[in-house]
Amino acid sequence: MAKVKYYYDSDTLSYRKIELRRRDKLGKMVVFLLASAMLGAIMVFALYQFIEPPKQKVMSRELENMRLHYELLENKMKQAEIVLNGIQKRDNNIYRTYFEANPIPEEQRKAGFGGVNRYKSLEGFNNSEMIIDATKSLDILSKQLYVQSKSLDEIIDLAKDKEKLLASIPAIQPVSKQDLTRMASGFGWRLDPFTKARKRHKGMDFTSPKGTPIYATGNGVVIRADRRATGYGNHIRIDHGFGYVTLYAHLSKYNVKKGQKVKRGDLIGYVGSTGRSQAPHLHYEVRYNGNQVNPINFYYGNLSPEEFQEMLKSASQEGQSLD
Ligand SMILES: [Zn+2]
Repeated sequence: MAKVKYYYDSDTLSYRKIELRRRDKLGKMVVFLLASAMLGAIMVFALYQFIEPPKQKVMSRELENMRLHYELLENKMKQAEIVLNGIQKRDNNIYRTYFEANPIPEEQRKAGFGGVNRYKSLEGFNNSEMIIDATKSLDILSKQLYVQSKSLDEIIDLAKDKEKLLASIPAIQPVSKQDLTRMASGFGWRLDPFTKARKRHKGMDFTSPKGTPIYATGNGVVIRADRRATGYGNHIRIDHGFGYVTLYAHLSKYNVKKGQKVKRGDLIGYVGSTGRSQAPHLHYEVRYNGNQVNPINFYYGNLSPEEFQEMLKSASQEGQSLD
């Protein structure tokens, strides 16, 4: 109950009760309540400005710590990118070049992810930008690693093939140096020993005594060992794969049969003078994709630079071939 207030009435010389009207009472109460509420709000607001509740303090310290570690992780990620860039450069400029594969274009290696926004779920938070950036970098890094590992897989296959190619490709002289009387005729325009007309000699002639061993110049399969080709007499053809076939003509004897697998340096037959031949010699051809090419480019296996020079000299002399 509200206190009862009195006033002194000078007319009646007595104290009289102050009678407040009901409306006035209500108004006063509302003003009081409003003022209290406002004061309370101001105090709470002020309190929050200067004093952090302990729980929030701990959380914000944790957040700061997390942000710091995030930055450290980002630095580490940048380091990883640098290392990967080095590997990519070596991959393009050394490995892929060595194995004759096209370099992987920069755009393909560094391509991001198009289409839908993959990072929508990370949007709308205080640290969204930081988290989206880091996630993006990591995504690109993962993709680059994937491309790089694919590239290395391809190189392994190429290396295996290269090993096989190097073993298969014709690379030695078919007659050994000590057995060779002379390199009679090279590849190119020569006089036909029979007609004396100028015509293209599509192989190399090695003059050696009858019975001199002839060696396979690369790994492969004997596809012919017969005398059914005009002019070549007894002859052998070896398919080396990769588009290469070698042909050995005018043999006196065979040492292999059709269908037989041979390795570089295997004895396949003996020098003779069968077919269209003037004197005992080996006519040797290298064919690449069906066309005769100059065998002089296929002796890197067992000739010294000086020997090669000498062979080049004698092979380029325009004389008469032995055919
Ligand atoms: Zn010839």
